[in-house]
Amino acid sequence: MHLSRPIPENFEVKQIRIVNRASGYYAMLSLALDVDMPQPSPSGHGLGIDLGLEHFLATSDGQLIARPRFFVDGQCKLKSLQRQLKRKKRGSRKSRQLHRQIARHHEYISNSRKDFHFKTAHQLCDSTGMIFAEDLNLKAMSAGMLCKHTLDAGFGQFLSILGHVCFKRDKYFAKVDANGTSQTCPKCQIRTGKKLLSERIHKCPECGYETNRDVAAAQVVLQRGYTAVGHIAVNFGEGK
Ligand SMILES: [Zn+2]
Repeated sequence: MHLSRPIPENFEVKQIRIVNRASGYYAMLSLALDVDMPQPSPSGHGLGIDLGLEHFLATSDGQLIARPRFFVDGQCKLKSLQRQLKRKKRGSRKSRQLHRQIARHHEYISNSRKDFHFKTAHQLCDSTGMIFAEDLNLKAMSAGMLCKHTLDAGFGQFLSILGHVCFKRDKYFAKVDANGTSQTCPKCQIRTGKKLLSERIHKCPECGYETNRDVAAAQVVLQRGYTAVGHIAVNFGEGK
């Protein structure tokens, strides 16, 4: 057995799960320690995030994080392996070998995605005291025509990892109502109406506030989060 890290002192092993992955067997331990963990309270600089398709996410501070490429690249390799498999005789040595290769590749993609989610969550925590995200109706999103991309981005997994990382790093995390975040102006709060997917810029017909469409949505998310925790509202685009 390869022990990736020692069991910390005073922890009690509550559960062991044996998992069979393409790369081998893993034993996952659940540990418990009897302490009261304080819940993070809302304070400090707030950050709203908007999960999207053009970018993986946009923040209310104007940062855009690109969608990871490994799924698209990985998908090409997967297709090529599957094509090779089709030409092999079933049950032959070569076909068994390809089956193993495909399974390992699936595992690689899922590991890369998880790694990206953890790194992004930590990076967001570096610059903020509280994070607000949209409460997405994931089912509705993945049922649409953007199905593959939406699932690839793995929004549901990311939000659960983000919540976990925020808790560990004592940052407040909450979800807000996602309804119409991309149809509201963060400066004057007017309803701007539905934008086409091709409209990449939010340009308010009322107050003239102009910014990236996803950044504008993230700013609305932040304002809703601030309202929910009783924080003084912020206005974006002042002096512009
Ligand atoms: Zn406006």
